[in-house]
Amino acid sequence: MKNICLLGSTGYIGVNSLKVIKGSPHRYRIVALGAGKNIDLLLSQIQEFKPRFAAVINPDLAKKLKIRLNSRTNTEILYGTEGYIEIATLSDVDITIAAMTGSSGLLPTFSAVTVGKDVALANKEILVVAGSLLMKESKKGGGKIFPIDSEHSAIQQSIQGHRREDLKRIILTGSGGPFKDFSLERLSKVTPEEALKHPKWRMGRKISIDSATMLNKGVEAIEAKWLFNVEMDQIEILLHPQSIIHSMVEYMDGSIIAQLARPDMRIPISYALSYPRHLRGELPSLDLSDIGKLSFEKPDKNKFRCLDLSLAAGKIGESMPAVLNGANEVAVNAFLEGKISFLEIPQLIEETMERHETFPLNSIDQAIEADQWAQSRAKEILERIVGN
Ligand code: MG
Repeated sequence: MKNICLLGSTGYIGVNSLKVIKGSPHRYRIVALGAGKNIDLLLSQIQEFKPRFAAVINPDLAKKLKIRLNSRTNTEILYGTEGYIEIATLSDVDITIAAMTGSSGLLPTFSAVTVGKDVALANKEILVVAGSLLMKESKKGGGKIFPIDSEHSAIQQSIQGHRREDLKRIILTGSGGPFKDFSLERLSKVTPEEALKHPKWRMGRKISIDSATMLNKGVEAIEAKWLFNVEMDQIEILLHPQSIIHSMVEYMDGSIIAQLARPDMRIPISYALSYPRHLRGELPSLDLSDIGKLSFEKPDKNKFRCLDLSLAAGKIGESMPAVLNGANEVAVNAFLEGKISFLEIPQLIEETMERHETFPLNSIDQAIEADQWAQSRAKEILERIVGN
């Protein structure tokens, strides 16, 4: 029986994690749930899974939640970063699922890794903002990191049972998002509503925009660099619109091992929780004759500038990926609020990166500092763009 702390329980990954956990009640037990502001959903999750602890973002929401629970369960309610850290590091937690979006998940995830918890990692920001620190800390703490992202899960599955020194390169696949075949002219006019409609995956708002700009694919390359200890030059991005192959690994002799599956997050979530086993799930077998064809193409980096910018940030390293992350957060919000166009997202990120003098990251605080520096700079640049 594995005791689980789930950070981000009301988000897309959180809800799917609970489906996986519910499907194996003899294997997994929820000890703690961490959510942001969606206390309606959290309330029903508490009633169903009866965790010992739950944490929300602030004291006001904690109070509301307590009133609504009205001592129907013995769940203790905590709040804020302190609350998230406390539940992520509870002594009887075996694995913490880090599925909070944005920077609120950074410190709790880092703390879990520091105390040696196994972490099933869905929170993208932490590897981008502080990848070197997280991997160092994980080594010291003695816990393992299991990626939940479908691409990294595929890479992990393709590496399993092979010798690391035989690995030549990683081929990171991506659907190309909803605008893959759009012209630059058409791209300049896309709306947030169009960008939120991903052809293959249903996801949260921020990650949907990051997929549409393809920044997400570059960010996944940075994550792969840290998770699998490879150089950025060893990672190739390949578009694969059917999203059946979730990534591949090439070995020195030219053999390529790929992982294929339905595009459904329950598969990588289940593997992260049961590694190295592939346990029975509720999805039907994949019929490849139904799919018919698998196709591949190179991404157009001229159209999708964010892909190039994120790969460049990964190569430059040090504080630059944190700056990319901070600038992108501001740019995506501005796009969702209708303040800037789709093509102004990379413009905002690029200008912020240009103004940054990189520095080495020696602590998580420095990483957060670089991220926040980028957010302030990006907001200044944004005001100028909007003013014109
Ligand atoms: Mg992905």
